Amino acid sequence: MFTIAKAKSEYGIWSSDQPTLAAPGRGMVMVDVIAAGICGTDFHIYRWDEWSSSRIKTPMTIGHEFVGTISAIGEDVAGFEIGERVSAECHIACGECALCRTGNTHICEKTEIIGVDRPGAFAEQVLIPATNLWKVPDVIPNRQAAVFDPVGNAMHMVTTAKVTARDVLIVGGGPIGLFAAAIAKSHGARTVVVQEPNQARAAIANSLDLDLVVNPRQEESRSEILKVTEARGPDVVLEVSGNGAALNAALDIAAPGATVALLGIPGGPVELDLGGKVVMKGISLIGVTGRRMYETWFQVEAFMLKNPELIDKVITHILPAKDFAEGFKLMEDGACGKVVLDFQSLKTGTVQ
Ligand SMILES: [Zn+2]
Ligand SMILES: [Zn+2]
Repeated sequence: MFTIAKAKSEYGIWSSDQPTLAAPGRGMVMVDVIAAGICGTDFHIYRWDEWSSSRIKTPMTIGHEFVGTISAIGEDVAGFEIGERVSAECHIACGECALCRTGNTHICEKTEIIGVDRPGAFAEQVLIPATNLWKVPDVIPNRQAAVFDPVGNAMHMVTTAKVTARDVLIVGGGPIGLFAAAIAKSHGARTVVVQEPNQARAAIANSLDLDLVVNPRQEESRSEILKVTEARGPDVVLEVSGNGAALNAALDIAAPGATVALLGIPGGPVELDLGGKVVMKGISLIGVTGRRMYETWFQVEAFMLKNPELIDKVITHILPAKDFAEGFKLMEDGACGKVVLDFQSLKTGTVQ
């Protein structure tokens, strides 16, 4: 079976030929992968940074955002049929701890993530608990169904930060920042500003009909943000860059009382002026991870059905799975929005 895996070496991702997976056990389902998105997490693993080298046991088939077709069903699974098209929540929670039992499954301490802790979706087939599956409506095309998960990250961040009638600054115009911008706009934000130094990504942000796209490396970006927020600064900051300097600048420009939601993962510890920029300004700092199960999924599906053209603006590349190296290179260069790998092409030879 063709898979894209992290082998032992320090930097990179390889295709490997893994044995076909065993039949699904109790409560499990086998999904034949149609398409899968490359996530920032996959890129962390590709770079083999501090986080991934401490967390991941090699060899590991990576990938966790996908759409596919059910090809086998284990015992005790109800409500699913062979041939159904599904996506899936990649966080597999224990379902028993206090967090799981109080509606906080997304921060279960025993979470296992496919493509991180167990074999992932950059493969012809993936095994997944039936409870994690999400049935995909027929009208959502494969390329969009493959990115339910990152749109979910963006949705979770926007809904947690509460953007309606507020001025929103999004720090980082990668796929999640771009999805978040489109969602914030549809959730009634007063203004939406995206801050992104990379030109290709800024161009995508510009296509989303936002209030402002700024380059933080240009001196006037600060005054431009203050101008659209009537000199108060943003009420909501959505930090998706993981860049400590950018976070400090955002805390500096944020309005007193602002909500600052953090989703980007910095490469290491970040120094903050907590006294001056957080405590004295009454800022709320919120960490956002994963998606609420399954509230966020309902919200994402509704958003996708209403705004398919916005999702398509952020998906810039669909590549045959065999050309995965090109996808990682695009991410390295920042020359893309969301990159989706087509696994059907392994069988049909064509990209759909
Ligand atoms: Zn992801
Ligand atoms: Zn749990």
